[in-house]
Amino acid sequence: MVFTAGAVAGIYFENYLAEAISPAVAASGQDKPEVSPVRARPRDVYYPNSEDLAADEMRVIACGTGMPTTRAAQAAACFLVELGNGDKFIFDIGSGSAERLSSLQIPYDYLDKIFIGHLHADHFGSLGEMFIGGALMGRQKPLRVWGPSGSTPELGTAYAVQKLKEMYTWDLAGRVGLVDFRGYSIEVNEFDYKAENAVIYEDNGVTIRSFPAIHSLDGPVSFSLEWKGLKFVFGSDSYPNKWFVEYARDADLAVHECFVAVPDLVKKMGFTPESALLVGTQIHTAPEAFGKLMAEIKPRMAVAYHFFKDFDTTPAVNDRIRTTYDGPLSLAEDFMVWNVTKDAIKVRMAAVEEATWAPPLVGVAQPPGGDPDREKYAKEMDVPVESLGYSDFIKAGRWTEVDEALRGVYKEASEALGREFPYPADQKAK
Ligand SMILES: [Zn+2]
Ligand SMILES: [Zn+2]
Repeated sequence: MVFTAGAVAGIYFENYLAEAISPAVAASGQDKPEVSPVRARPRDVYYPNSEDLAADEMRVIACGTGMPTTRAAQAAACFLVELGNGDKFIFDIGSGSAERLSSLQIPYDYLDKIFIGHLHADHFGSLGEMFIGGALMGRQKPLRVWGPSGSTPELGTAYAVQKLKEMYTWDLAGRVGLVDFRGYSIEVNEFDYKAENAVIYEDNGVTIRSFPAIHSLDGPVSFSLEWKGLKFVFGSDSYPNKWFVEYARDADLAVHECFVAVPDLVKKMGFTPESALLVGTQIHTAPEAFGKLMAEIKPRMAVAYHFFKDFDTTPAVNDRIRTTYDGPLSLAEDFMVWNVTKDAIKVRMAAVEEATWAPPLVGVAQPPGGDPDREKYAKEMDVPVESLGYSDFIKAGRWTEVDEALRGVYKEASEALGREFPYPADQKAK
């Protein structure tokens, strides 16, 4: 073990201080805490949408911290950064993470900026869900994606997004003309994966930079976000690399992958030792290497993710990190929350809802665009506009016995809202 008793005492000393100034005592203004059987009291949990962010405060929420094989306990890579100026940024959108984001009940117009570090499914597998589901749940503008180029055009982000859009041709064709269609598009900003600390986004006082990572093939990158003197760094996946050492230095929050310990890859994942050693130490960052990296860059808080965080595997990850690093450390799991200011970094877990619906809309929803929307879409996707509907064959299969019952629904809406909603079959008959 490298760390000393003194360093450990330093970490726990803060906990004693927190105890000495616990909110209940401070609020009571008395020597003894006043505990009431009926009054609310502060809780050490983050409840989404119950706290304002200070003008100079950053909040980061882990919305995916696991592995390529998603499971109920953990989605794959995704970190949401929220700033006191109102801006929000998503770093990686791994499989399963769209569900986690939905639990935060943030209006989807604010979840429109996604930065993808590399194109493994566990880092962008939920992009389609954010594209389609986000629009359905109220996004009224295009989804914006930033991601690296590859060594050939086919290995770049623009290609992946284009193919994703094409994959959803039927889905989009099936919605156009029926819903507010403004959110059903993606803008892609592909940048050079070899660029070193290059600015890829700059607006409203926020600067996001990209630098190369080393992982599987050419192409992966890491990101830094700087705003009001605070620095967030997101590694995506990488073997420890010189760029991270240089550009992540002195980050307030440094998020970097930390893979499952090699013996557990064999025992729990069924890898051969040969494969576990290669994948666990050469393609990814092993816990020992994660610690070494953080000891070098010295963030105010090191965040390890990309391992299944279970009762029987977490001790090995922690112990192995602690052979090389004795600084502040978070072993991330889904819904871990960091509130970052110049003065303090507060780490908590969020308590979230599961059975969520659409969060509030930012702007007024538009009624369906009908034929003009269909024609525009048909041109864009190069599909014949006449195929965006039912054929006579399918139309002839409608069971018209339900018309009377459904006419009632239209009548109900017309009466309740004081304007006429004509029943579609009656309209077409005219
Ligand atoms: Zn990867
Ligand atoms: Zn990964």
